Amino acid sequence: MDFDYDDQNIFAKILRGEIPNDTVFENAHALAFRDIRPQAPVHVLVIPKGPYVSLDHFARDASAEEQAGFFAAVAAVCEGEGVEGGFRAISNARADGVQEVPHFHLHIMGGRSMGPMLAN
Ligand code: 5GP
Repeated sequence: MDFDYDDQNIFAKILRGEIPNDTVFENAHALAFRDIRPQAPVHVLVIPKGPYVSLDHFARDASAEEQAGFFAAVAAVCEGEGVEGGFRAISNARADGVQEVPHFHLHIMGGRSMGPMLAN
């Protein structure tokens, strides 16, 4: 599959510092920031700094260092956000996944029961 990365997407602009964000954690390979429309008391987006469209793109093409850096950021967010009670991690991809922003991101949501996995 060809993954066509659009460098004008909103998260690319956040990574370039063109749009402000509420940063929770950052390392060499990943940035974590609060979702602008939170759907839970904790709603953080973790994104790689590299140009990956979706989870399957990142899993296939990102280097071991990028993948380790990304998951180190996930661990830091979970540790820092106090989600000992649990959380939900979601990554929407492409049209069927109803992905709004075409830069791979993992939603980390918690701070309350997240309910059934799917509403429909
Ligand atoms: P998706 O549907 O692509 O999985 O989710 C994209 C998420 O990005 C949504 O939850 C939306 O609220 C969030 N989002 C969209 N634009 C911005 C923005 O400019 N800043 C932040 N922090 N979040 C955004």
